[in-house]
Amino acid sequence: MYIILLGAPGAGKGTQAEILSKELGLTHVSTGDLFREAQAKGTELGLLAKSYMEKGALVPDEVTVRMILERIAAADCAQGCILDGFPRTLGQARALDEALLSLGKQIDRVLYIKVPSDELLRRLSGRWLCRKCQTPYHTITNPPRVAGRCDRCDGELYQRADDTLETAQKRLEVYFAQTMPLMGYYTEAGKLVEVDGNQAIQKVAEDSLAVLR
Ligand code: ADP
Ligand code: AMP
Repeated sequence: MYIILLGAPGAGKGTQAEILSKELGLTHVSTGDLFREAQAKGTELGLLAKSYMEKGALVPDEVTVRMILERIAAADCAQGCILDGFPRTLGQARALDEALLSLGKQIDRVLYIKVPSDELLRRLSGRWLCRKCQTPYHTITNPPRVAGRCDRCDGELYQRADDTLETAQKRLEVYFAQTMPLMGYYTEAGKLVEVDGNQAIQKVAEDSLAVLR
Protein backbone atom coordinates (compact mmCIF):
# COMPACT_ATOMS: atom_id res chain seq x y z
CA MET A 1 0.00 0.00 0.00
CA TYR A 2 1.37 3.42 -0.99
CA ILE A 3 0.07 6.21 1.25
CA ILE A 4 0.80 9.93 1.01
CA LEU A 5 0.48 12.15 4.09
CA LEU A 6 -0.57 15.60 2.97
CA GLY A 7 -0.68 18.59 5.28
CA ALA A 8 0.99 21.89 6.15
CA PRO A 9 4.35 22.10 7.93
CA GLY A 10 3.58 21.25 11.55
CA ALA A 11 0.34 19.36 10.77
CA GLY A 12 1.78 16.21 12.34
CA LYS A 13 2.81 14.22 9.25
CA GLY A 14 6.06 12.94 10.78
CA THR A 15 4.35 12.15 14.09
CA GLN A 16 1.53 10.21 12.44
CA ALA A 17 3.85 8.52 9.92
CA GLU A 18 5.80 6.96 12.81
CA ILE A 19 2.62 5.54 14.40
CA LEU A 20 1.01 4.45 11.12
CA SER A 21 4.18 2.80 9.82
CA LYS A 22 4.22 0.54 12.90
CA GLU A 23 0.48 -0.19 12.75
CA LEU A 24 0.43 -0.90 9.01
CA GLY A 25 3.91 -2.42 8.68
CA LEU A 26 4.98 0.12 6.06
CA THR A 27 8.29 1.99 5.73
CA HIS A 28 8.19 5.69 6.59
CA VAL A 29 9.88 7.82 3.90
CA SER A 30 10.31 11.54 4.62
CA THR A 31 11.93 13.83 2.04
CA GLY A 32 12.75 16.39 4.75
CA ASP A 33 14.58 13.67 6.76
CA LEU A 34 16.44 12.51 3.62
CA PHE A 35 17.59 16.07 2.91
CA ARG A 36 18.63 16.61 6.56
CA GLU A 37 20.59 13.31 6.52
CA ALA A 38 22.36 14.41 3.31
CA GLN A 39 23.16 17.75 4.99
CA ALA A 40 24.55 16.04 8.08
CA LYS A 41 26.80 13.92 5.84
CA GLY A 42 27.90 17.03 3.93
CA THR A 43 27.13 15.53 0.51
CA GLU A 44 26.61 17.60 -2.65
CA LEU A 45 22.86 16.93 -2.42
CA GLY A 46 22.88 18.06 1.22
CA LEU A 47 24.65 21.32 0.40
CA LEU A 48 22.26 22.06 -2.45
CA ALA A 49 19.18 21.24 -0.32
CA LYS A 50 20.45 23.43 2.54
CA SER A 51 20.49 26.53 0.35
CA TYR A 52 16.73 26.13 -0.25
CA MET A 53 15.70 24.77 3.14
CA GLU A 54 17.25 27.62 5.13
CA LYS A 55 15.11 30.07 3.16
CA GLY A 56 11.94 28.01 3.61
CA ALA A 57 11.80 27.36 -0.15
CA LEU A 58 11.26 24.04 -1.90
CA VAL A 59 14.20 22.09 -3.29
CA PRO A 60 13.76 21.94 -7.11
CA ASP A 61 11.48 19.17 -8.40
CA GLU A 62 14.15 17.52 -10.54
CA VAL A 63 16.47 16.95 -7.54
CA THR A 64 13.67 15.93 -5.17
CA VAL A 65 12.02 13.52 -7.60
CA ARG A 66 15.32 11.81 -8.43
CA MET A 67 16.08 11.33 -4.72
CA ILE A 68 12.65 9.94 -3.81
CA LEU A 69 12.40 7.56 -6.78
CA GLU A 70 15.76 6.11 -5.83
CA ARG A 71 14.58 5.73 -2.23
CA ILE A 72 11.27 4.03 -3.03
CA ALA A 73 13.02 1.61 -5.40
CA ALA A 74 14.70 0.06 -2.31
CA ALA A 75 13.60 -3.37 -1.08
CA ASP A 76 11.95 -2.00 2.08
CA CYS A 77 9.43 -0.10 -0.10
CA ALA A 78 8.60 -3.01 -2.43
CA GLN A 79 5.26 -3.61 -0.67
CA GLY A 80 4.54 0.11 -0.32
CA CYS A 81 5.47 2.95 2.02
CA ILE A 82 4.19 6.04 3.79
CA LEU A 83 5.34 9.20 2.02
CA ASP A 84 5.74 12.17 4.37
CA GLY A 85 6.48 15.58 2.80
CA PHE A 86 6.35 14.31 -0.78
CA PRO A 87 4.88 15.23 -3.22
CA ARG A 88 4.71 18.99 -2.56
CA THR A 89 4.08 20.27 -6.12
CA LEU A 90 1.87 19.13 -8.99
CA GLY A 91 5.03 18.34 -10.98
CA GLN A 92 6.21 15.98 -8.22
CA ALA A 93 2.77 14.33 -8.00
CA ARG A 94 2.68 13.66 -11.74
CA ALA A 95 6.26 12.34 -11.76
CA LEU A 96 5.42 9.99 -8.89
CA ASP A 97 2.28 8.69 -10.62
CA GLU A 98 4.22 8.04 -13.83
CA ALA A 99 7.05 6.25 -12.04
CA LEU A 100 4.67 4.02 -10.07
CA LEU A 101 2.60 3.30 -13.17
CA SER A 102 5.69 2.09 -15.03
CA LEU A 103 6.14 -0.44 -12.20
CA GLY A 104 2.48 -1.49 -12.32
CA LYS A 105 1.85 0.24 -8.97
CA GLN A 106 -0.12 3.26 -7.80
CA ILE A 107 -0.86 5.53 -4.85
CA ASP A 108 -3.69 3.96 -2.84
CA ARG A 109 -4.64 6.73 -0.43
CA VAL A 110 -3.76 10.37 0.30
CA LEU A 111 -4.44 11.30 3.91
CA TYR A 112 -4.92 15.04 4.39
CA ILE A 113 -4.20 16.09 7.98
CA LYS A 114 -6.18 19.28 8.57
CA VAL A 115 -4.91 21.77 11.19
CA PRO A 116 -5.67 25.52 11.57
CA SER A 117 -2.82 27.96 10.75
CA ASP A 118 -2.40 29.47 14.24
CA GLU A 119 -1.96 25.98 15.70
CA LEU A 120 0.66 25.15 13.02
CA LEU A 121 2.91 28.00 14.14
CA ARG A 122 2.54 26.97 17.80
CA ARG A 123 3.59 23.44 16.89
CA LEU A 124 6.59 24.46 14.79
CA SER A 125 7.95 26.87 17.41
CA GLY A 126 7.87 24.15 20.10
CA ARG A 127 9.17 21.28 17.96
CA TRP A 128 12.28 19.32 18.94
CA LEU A 129 13.72 16.47 16.87
CA CYS A 130 16.02 13.58 17.65
CA ARG A 131 19.37 13.99 15.92
CA LYS A 132 19.73 10.19 15.54
CA CYS A 133 16.26 8.84 14.61
CA GLN A 134 14.34 12.08 13.71
CA THR A 135 11.44 11.39 16.12
CA PRO A 136 9.54 14.67 16.71
CA TYR A 137 8.65 16.01 20.18
CA HIS A 138 6.95 19.17 21.40
CA THR A 139 7.80 21.13 24.53
CA ILE A 140 4.16 21.30 25.62
CA THR A 141 2.01 18.83 23.68
CA ASN A 142 4.44 15.93 23.30
CA PRO A 143 7.43 16.28 25.66
CA PRO A 144 10.12 13.58 25.93
CA ARG A 145 10.31 11.61 29.23
CA VAL A 146 13.80 13.03 29.91
CA ALA A 147 14.37 16.65 28.84
CA GLY A 148 16.61 16.92 25.78
CA ARG A 149 16.80 13.14 25.13
CA CYS A 150 14.86 10.91 22.73
CA ASP A 151 12.50 8.33 24.35
CA ARG A 152 13.23 5.80 21.62
CA CYS A 153 17.02 5.90 21.21
CA ASP A 154 18.32 8.37 23.85
CA GLY A 155 19.62 10.58 20.99
CA GLU A 156 20.13 14.31 21.54
CA LEU A 157 17.13 16.55 20.74
CA TYR A 158 17.57 19.75 18.70
CA GLN A 159 15.42 22.50 17.16
CA ARG A 160 15.41 22.90 13.38
CA ALA A 161 16.95 26.10 11.98
CA ASP A 162 13.90 26.50 9.70
CA ASP A 163 11.41 26.36 12.61
CA THR A 164 12.04 30.04 13.51
CA LEU A 165 8.88 32.18 13.22
CA GLU A 166 10.09 33.96 10.07
CA THR A 167 11.08 30.84 8.12
CA ALA A 168 8.05 28.88 9.37
CA GLN A 169 5.77 31.64 8.04
CA LYS A 170 7.55 31.51 4.69
CA ARG A 171 7.13 27.70 4.60
CA LEU A 172 3.41 28.08 5.25
CA GLU A 173 3.13 30.55 2.34
CA VAL A 174 4.97 28.10 0.09
CA TYR A 175 2.63 25.35 1.26
CA PHE A 176 -0.53 27.33 0.44
CA ALA A 177 0.80 28.41 -2.98
CA GLN A 178 2.48 25.22 -4.21
CA THR A 179 1.18 22.24 -2.24
CA MET A 180 -2.52 23.03 -1.64
CA PRO A 181 -3.31 22.44 -5.36
CA LEU A 182 -2.54 18.76 -4.72
CA MET A 183 -5.84 18.50 -2.84
CA GLY A 184 -7.73 19.02 -6.10
CA TYR A 185 -5.43 16.64 -7.95
CA TYR A 186 -5.98 13.76 -5.53
CA THR A 187 -9.68 14.53 -5.02
CA GLU A 188 -10.17 14.15 -8.78
CA ALA A 189 -8.27 10.88 -8.64
CA GLY A 190 -10.70 9.73 -5.89
CA LYS A 191 -7.83 9.13 -3.46
CA LEU A 192 -8.12 11.92 -0.89
CA VAL A 193 -9.32 11.17 2.63
CA GLU A 194 -9.29 13.71 5.45
CA VAL A 195 -8.63 13.59 9.17
CA ASP A 196 -9.03 16.29 11.84
CA GLY A 197 -5.41 16.87 12.90
CA ASN A 198 -6.37 19.30 15.65
CA GLN A 199 -6.86 16.58 18.26
CA ALA A 200 -4.60 14.61 20.58
CA ILE A 201 -1.90 12.63 18.73
CA GLN A 202 -3.41 9.20 19.57
CA LYS A 203 -6.91 10.30 18.48
CA VAL A 204 -5.57 11.57 15.13
CA ALA A 205 -3.84 8.19 14.71
CA GLU A 206 -7.05 6.25 15.50
CA ASP A 207 -9.09 8.34 13.06
CA SER A 208 -6.38 7.97 10.41
CA LEU A 209 -6.32 4.20 10.74
CA ALA A 210 -10.10 4.12 10.51
CA VAL A 211 -10.15 6.00 7.18
CA LEU A 212 -7.16 4.12 5.76
CA ARG A 213 -8.39 0.61 6.54
P1 ADP B 1 5.11 17.77 10.20
O1 ADP B 1 5.89 16.51 9.93
O2 ADP B 1 3.76 17.76 9.53
O3 ADP B 1 5.85 19.03 9.91
P2 ADP B 1 5.43 17.01 13.01
O4 ADP B 1 4.92 15.61 13.05
O5 ADP B 1 6.90 17.20 13.07
O6 ADP B 1 4.78 17.81 11.74
O7 ADP B 1 4.72 17.79 14.20
C1 ADP B 1 4.98 19.18 14.44
C2 ADP B 1 5.03 19.43 15.93
O8 ADP B 1 3.72 19.29 16.48
C3 ADP B 1 5.92 18.47 16.72
O9 ADP B 1 6.51 19.22 17.76
C4 ADP B 1 4.94 17.42 17.24
O10 ADP B 1 5.39 16.84 18.47
C5 ADP B 1 3.68 18.25 17.47
N1 ADP B 1 2.43 17.52 17.19
C6 ADP B 1 2.21 16.60 16.21
N2 ADP B 1 0.94 16.17 16.23
C7 ADP B 1 0.32 16.85 17.25
C8 ADP B 1 -1.02 16.86 17.78
N3 ADP B 1 -2.00 16.09 17.26
N4 ADP B 1 -1.27 17.67 18.83
C9 ADP B 1 -0.32 18.46 19.35
N5 ADP B 1 0.96 18.50 18.91
C10 ADP B 1 1.28 17.71 17.87
P1 AMP C 1 9.94 19.00 6.10
O1 AMP C 1 10.90 18.23 6.95
O2 AMP C 1 8.96 18.13 5.38
O3 AMP C 1 9.28 20.13 6.84
O4 AMP C 1 10.82 19.67 4.94
C1 AMP C 1 11.85 20.58 5.26
C2 AMP C 1 12.34 21.28 3.99
O5 AMP C 1 12.91 20.31 3.08
C3 AMP C 1 11.28 22.00 3.17
O6 AMP C 1 10.99 23.29 3.67
C4 AMP C 1 11.93 22.02 1.79
O7 AMP C 1 12.95 23.01 1.71
C5 AMP C 1 12.62 20.65 1.75
N1 AMP C 1 11.70 19.63 1.20
C6 AMP C 1 11.16 18.56 1.86
N2 AMP C 1 10.36 17.86 1.06
C7 AMP C 1 10.37 18.49 -0.15
C8 AMP C 1 9.71 18.27 -1.39
N3 AMP C 1 8.87 17.25 -1.58
N4 AMP C 1 9.97 19.13 -2.41
C9 AMP C 1 10.81 20.16 -2.25
N5 AMP C 1 11.44 20.45 -1.11
C10 AMP C 1 11.23 19.63 -0.06
